[in-house]
Amino acid sequence: MTRIGLAATGLSKAFGGVRAVDDATVEFHHGKINALIGPNGSGKTTFFNCVTGMIKPDSGRVTYYDADITGKAPHRIARAGVGRSFQLCRIFPRMTALENVLAAVRPPSRARLLASAHHRGDVARARELLSRVGIEHLESSEARALSYGQQKLLELAGVLMADPDTIMLDEPAGGVNPALIERIAALVRSLNAEGKTFIVVEHNMELVMSLSDHVIVFDRGTQISAGPPSVVQQDPRVLEAYLGI
Ligand code: ADP
Repeated sequence: MTRIGLAATGLSKAFGGVRAVDDATVEFHHGKINALIGPNGSGKTTFFNCVTGMIKPDSGRVTYYDADITGKAPHRIARAGVGRSFQLCRIFPRMTALENVLAAVRPPSRARLLASAHHRGDVARARELLSRVGIEHLESSEARALSYGQQKLLELAGVLMADPDTIMLDEPAGGVNPALIERIAALVRSLNAEGKTFIVVEHNMELVMSLSDHVIVFDRGTQISAGPPSVVQQDPRVLEAYLGI
């Protein structure tokens, strides 16, 4: 049986006259790798931001299991168990990789102190996560010295620091070289096998179709199709949205 974790009901958000998200009702499958796709400007980012509390929707509801999290502050949504990455990586460029992972759960100044103290539980966990994403050798490097793909892995280590049940990734493969895309995909698969639910916004169709269990397609601010990759790929509404026919 499919269980629903995160869900949106009748969600809408307009910017002036533009209805970026327009009465969207979406259910994400618990324990699965969900993908959110759609043509440019179809409202994916705005939807993502409404769900994670970065912007407040005009109307509609966002629920996480039994809890109504509509319009709650991002840190409260994070505390409820939903972690997220950012399209253009949120890292502190002049802090080391280790400090960055610590800063995901501590104020940056405290993260610096902790990293230099070396013996706290948080530091051990941050190291373990750097190792998990495969960049433990870069622990003492400033984040700005890392490649863009490595920075994405660093950001993911930071997201994992709060041990979220559900992880939302905004374009994890965008601007990343193919070898690292494969590494990120393998990581998502293994974390999913351990029980983490994923929601991935991604343009790389090959990756979406090979990685996800459940694909949600957006067009003009709302869900137009949802299902397993093989079904969604054949849906005439999806072909129409992408090809404009
Ligand atoms: P996607 O992520 O699918 O490309 P977006 O959510 O970024 O779509 O955008 C949906 C629509 O909302 C677009 O027409 C975009 O121009 C508009 N939009 C998004 N953010 C803003 C904003 N902050 N101000 C005005 N219009 C916006």
